[in-house]
Amino acid sequence: MSGAYRHVIVVGIDGAGNFYRKAKTPAIHKLFEEGAGSDWCLTSIPTISAECWGSMLIGVGPKIHGLTNDIVSSKPYENALHPTVFKIIRRERPGAELGAFCNWSPINAGIVERNLGVEMETGEDAVLTDKICRYIREKKPEFLFVQFDSIDGAGHTYGYGTGKYLEALGEADGYVAKIRKAVEEAGIAEDTLFIVTADHGGYDHGHGGVTDEEKYVFFVAVGKTVKPGAKIDLEVRDIPAIILHALELPADPNWEAKLPGGMFEE
Ligand SMILES: [Zn+2]
Repeated sequence: MSGAYRHVIVVGIDGAGNFYRKAKTPAIHKLFEEGAGSDWCLTSIPTISAECWGSMLIGVGPKIHGLTNDIVSSKPYENALHPTVFKIIRRERPGAELGAFCNWSPINAGIVERNLGVEMETGEDAVLTDKICRYIREKKPEFLFVQFDSIDGAGHTYGYGTGKYLEALGEADGYVAKIRKAVEEAGIAEDTLFIVTADHGGYDHGHGGVTDEEKYVFFVAVGKTVKPGAKIDLEVRDIPAIILHALELPADPNWEAKLPGGMFEE
């Protein structure tokens, strides 16, 4: 029964690594108190956006999905053997409301497959947040994926872990709080698995390498069957297994993704 959710929302904070611990992030800390998570969720190597978001949405590493920033920026993704979690949900639930609200538009254009009837939006983080909240209240999506980008921008500009970067992370925490409030207002909190995570971190002014600052990200999930305060072992590519388990849909046989132990009540 641990999979009995009608809604899953994944909020991805680009470039956030596990730096939330050093920033003013009350919403994320509250999620960790209420739910299960990890500060040491391993992302894909190389620690680059397309490679890592690809793993999070497809359930396999970059060697298999083959996505790079150049590729996702130039052509749509289509792979019969390794579909995204969007395509799997659509196949099983033709009428489901699905959304992808991403500041970095290549996710919508080059990772989520064409013609799936996914509601898509792009925009700066603060503006995007308002659109996300309205969408949640009005459409109560079965699966919604969100990507915020300003934090990674601050890392590239000012350096990861610097004061201005942590300030940007604090702002993103505020967006997370707003989205959670929208879930409450929509009346779907009880039936929602709510996840917040990141694609990679950063070191100095960049990422792509294998330092701990780059390759470990935080992951936290809250929901009615999630064990409060549980520490779990997982990788970014496991996230589709969590999403489909929550929606009570079968796992993809071609995945590397696996459901982390100890996350849900039996
Ligand atoms: Zn990124």
